[in-house]
Formats: sequence, structure tokens, C-alpha cells
Amino acid sequence: MKWKGGSITYIYDEDQCRCKLGLCVEACGQGVLEFDEGKEKMRIGNTVQCIFCRQCEEICPYQAISIEGALTLEDIRTAFV
Ligand code: SF4
Ligand code: SF4
Repeated sequence: MKWKGGSITYIYDEDQCRCKLGLCVEACGQGVLEFDEGKEKMRIGNTVQCIFCRQCEEICPYQAISIEGALTLEDIRTAFV
């Protein structure tokens, strides 16, 4: 799954989600990520809350998450209007 926030693209490869622990869910301080107990995989929740801090990307031992790009000044400006 893939979604865009401003100039950033958030990519989640569910096939690579294999830790079965939800490490990224615990790491996300914004409550964006959820853990599907049945599938034992992460699922993306409320993307509006994401601040692109990359904590989830860093903690994932299987590189299931990648965040590409960086917020531009224009992104930041439009987020506050
Ligand atoms: S840390 Fe990685 S492997 Fe573990 S639940 Fe999150 S996406 Fe899946
Ligand atoms: S980038 Fe940060 S805020 Fe966004 S889902 Fe990952 S940990 Fe949560």
C-alpha cells in the first residue's frame, strides 16, 4: 500500500511485515498505525495524524516501511492554512 502526504510517499509492503510484534505500532507516537491481531500484521490507520517522523521506518526489522521524499516549505505552508 502507498499513500502520499505532500511531497512524501509512504510505502508499506505488507508481504514484508513479518515481526508479528507491531514494533512500528508501538513506536508511532501519533496513533497512525494499528496492529491486526488476526493477520499479525500492521495496518495503516489515520494517515492525517502522520508527522513523517520515520520512527516506524527505523524500527522495522524487515524494511516493510519506506518513506520517500521530504516535506517542502510549500507542504508546511499549506498544512497550516
Ligand atoms: S515493525 Fe515492520 S514487521 Fe513489525 S509490524 Fe511493523 S511493519 Fe510489520
Ligand atoms: S512516520 Fe512517524 S507519525 Fe508517521 S506513521 Fe511512522 S511513526 Fe507514525
